[in-house]
Amino acid sequence: MTTRSPETDLGRTRRARRIGRVLTETHPDAHCELDHSNALELSVATILSAQCTDKKVNEVTPKLFARYRTAADYAGADRAELEELIRPTGFYRNKTSSLINLGRALCERYDGEVPGRLADLVTLPGIGRKTANVILGNAFDVPGITVDTHFQRLVQRWGLTTETDPVKIEHAIGALYPKRDWTMLSHRIIFHGRRVCHARKPACGACTLAKLCPAYGTGPTDPVAAAKLLKGPRARDLAAAVGIDPDLVPQQAVAAEVP
Ligand code: SF4
Repeated sequence: MTTRSPETDLGRTRRARRIGRVLTETHPDAHCELDHSNALELSVATILSAQCTDKKVNEVTPKLFARYRTAADYAGADRAELEELIRPTGFYRNKTSSLINLGRALCERYDGEVPGRLADLVTLPGIGRKTANVILGNAFDVPGITVDTHFQRLVQRWGLTTETDPVKIEHAIGALYPKRDWTMLSHRIIFHGRRVCHARKPACGACTLAKLCPAYGTGPTDPVAAAKLLKGPRARDLAAAVGIDPDLVPQQAVAAEVP
């Protein structure tokens, strides 16, 4: 009987890079799913995205951004009006407080501008390290790794780290990839988590990473069953990428809202 020797650090790094390359091919459409046109809008959208889908946030923000254009607008907001505008995103009282406090802090400490440094961003109300990395990567082009629930689950399934603390995960994964790739890598991992490698029933039999993933088999490996688990507008392309007949992907999967 042969036993497989444990993976070396070099072997893990090589596998991580291969995973990165496959994800680049699998999700050419990966991007920040929160609509925004500047750093303030992205900061606001990210605060609203707590416990809420990006799709719902994107439904709310056009009207919000048209009404509130500057940090001073949020600082001087009428609470009842702001609450009403963001109510569909849930936890709207807390989120309203965060937005007003964010506007005040930006006006008092940063001349109304969102700062482009992690150390400054994390001092702002409603902005933790994860949010700060989203803002840096997408509004300032500063590479950042975003460890959200999808990112955390996937890198653990891939055996790339055994860490459970988000900051330690960020450092462990950052060490495996070139810094310039961090932001897009984060988007692609999160895309894969939302569309293929779901928390409860990952679509293992329809996953482009099957050969590189030690957790293959966590979800159904039968292609027909797995194809039904794919989600999002490119669900049929994702099936085709692993040789599955795209017609096996039901229409509701294509139309499904990604979590
Ligand atoms: S093979 Fe399964 S567990 Fe591994 S990444 Fe793909 S869907 Fe996730």
